[in-house]
Amino acid sequence: MKEYELVVGLEVHAQLATRTKLFCACGTDGFGQAPNSRICPVCTAQPGSLPVLNRRAVELGFQAALALDCEIKGSSIFARKNYFYPDLPKAYQISQYDRPFSENGRLTVALKDRAPRVIRIKRIHLEEDAGKLLHELGAAELDGSLVDFNRAGVPLIEIVTEPDLRSSEEAYAYLSALKEVVQFVGASRCDMEKGELRCDANVSVRPIGQEALGTRAEIKNLNSFKNVKDAVDHEFRRQVELVESGGTVVQETRLWDAEARVTRSLRSKEDAHDYRYFPDPDLPPLAADPNWVAELKAALPELPAARRARFSRTLGLSAYDAGVLTADRARADFFETAARSAPAGSSKVVANLFSTEILARLNAEGKSAEQIPFPPGHLGSLAGLVAAGSLSSKGAKDVLIRMWETGREPKDIVGDLGLAQVRDDEKVRAWVKEAVAANPKAAADLKGGKAAAIGALVGAVMKLSRGQADPGLVNALIREAVQE
Ligand code: ADP
Ligand code: MG
Ligand code: ZN
Repeated sequence: MKEYELVVGLEVHAQLATRTKLFCACGTDGFGQAPNSRICPVCTAQPGSLPVLNRRAVELGFQAALALDCEIKGSSIFARKNYFYPDLPKAYQISQYDRPFSENGRLTVALKDRAPRVIRIKRIHLEEDAGKLLHELGAAELDGSLVDFNRAGVPLIEIVTEPDLRSSEEAYAYLSALKEVVQFVGASRCDMEKGELRCDANVSVRPIGQEALGTRAEIKNLNSFKNVKDAVDHEFRRQVELVESGGTVVQETRLWDAEARVTRSLRSKEDAHDYRYFPDPDLPPLAADPNWVAELKAALPELPAARRARFSRTLGLSAYDAGVLTADRARADFFETAARSAPAGSSKVVANLFSTEILARLNAEGKSAEQIPFPPGHLGSLAGLVAAGSLSSKGAKDVLIRMWETGREPKDIVGDLGLAQVRDDEKVRAWVKEAVAANPKAAADLKGGKAAAIGALVGAVMKLSRGQADPGLVNALIREAVQE
C-alpha cells in the first residue's frame, strides 16, 4: 500500500466551559441529571421565544481561537442549518456557516522520533448542540424513542483543520495537542466521557506524487482518540483496496463500528445546499470589539509547549521531566509556584520530589494537582531543606507523607520526627571518635589502605547518631580521624 498517500482533515467539536447554554439561561450541567431538567422555552423552541447570545461562550471561543493562532473576524454571522431530526426542536441548528468568527490558525504537533509538524486550522465557529435520543430505558426496550433536551443549546466550538494530516499517528498527536491547548486556556474541560470533545474524520487517498485530493469519506461517531486512529487506519485500507480493485471512492458519511472494527456507510454526504443555510434573522451579526480581542490575547496563559521549553531551559530539566510537569495546567502551576518559592538552586529538587513522590500519591489516589493537600510553598521549603543537606532524600519522603496527611509545614514535621540531619562538626566528631575506639581493626585497615573498611565505621557512626549524621561529613571526619 505504499504507493498511496493518506490525507486526513479533522473536525472537532468542543463543549465550551460556560455555566449556561449558548442562547438561554439554562444550565450546561445536565449530563447524567434527570432528563429535561435543564430546559426552557428557548432551547425547546416554543413559539415566540428568542435567542440571546451568551457573552461568556464568545469569550471562551475567542480564547481558544487565539491560542490556536487564528484570526478573529471583526464580524461573523449566525446561520440556520436546517434539517429535520427529533433531537433538534427548532428543526434548524444555529451555527456559523460562511462567516465564522475565526479563520487561519495553526497548531504545532510534536511527533515521536520526527520533527514537529504545523497543522493548519481552517476555521473555528460557534454553534449549539442538539438534544439526545434515548431508544431504551435501562434494560427496557421502548416502543418509540424518548428525547432529552438537557444538551440542546449547549455551546460548542467546531475546529476544522485543512487536509494536512498524513497518518493516523499524526491525527492522534494533533488531537492530543489540541485538547491540551483548549483545556489549558480553560475554553473547554474536554471530558470525553461526557461527550465534551467529539471528532469527525475526513479521509481520502491519492497516489503518491499526485497533487489533487481524492474523494473523501467522513467518519462520524468517533468518541475516543484511539477510535479516530483505528478508524482512519481502517478507512485508508478500505479505500486503497477499493481503488486497486478498479472501484471509486464515493463521497459519503460513514460510521465507525468500534466492536466490529469497520466503518459502515451511513448515508451519501449531504451538500451545503441540502441544509438551506441562511442568516438567522433573530441574531444580529457578532461584532468583535478589537480592544476586547487584544485584551483577551494579552491575557492568554503561556501555552504548554512554550512552558515546557521554558522549564527545560531555565530549570535545566530534561524534555521528559518538563513534559511530566506541564501535563496539565494545575500541575504546571503548582510546580512553578513551588520552584519559585524554593531557595535558589533547589528547583531541580522540587522537580524530583514532584515527579516522583507527589505524582505517585496523586496517581494512587486518582487525584489531580488541584487536590494536593498543602500549598506549593511547603514543597519549596521541603526542597530547600534537602538542597541544604539538612534532610536526606529518605527523610524528605517521610516528611512529604506527613505533609500530605496534615498539611503542616515541613520544618515543623522535621522537628517532630527528629529527622534533621546533624551537620555539626563537634557532634559528629564525637561519634566518630567513639566508633574508631570501638572498631580498632577497621580503623587500622582503613589507615593501611583498605578503603572498604570504612563501611564498618560509617555504620557505627550512623548507629550512634540514630541515622541522623550527615553521611558526607561522617566520611570526611572518619578519614581525618584515622590519619591522625
Ligand atoms: P464541508 O463543508 O463539506 O464540511 P470542508 O471543506 O469544510 O467541507 O472540509 C471539512 C473537512 O474535510 C476539513 O477538515 C477538510 O480539511 C477535510 N477535507 C476536505 N477535503 C478533503 C479530502 N479530499 N480528503 C481529506 N480531507 C478533506
Ligand atoms: Mg463540515
Ligand atoms: Zn433553555
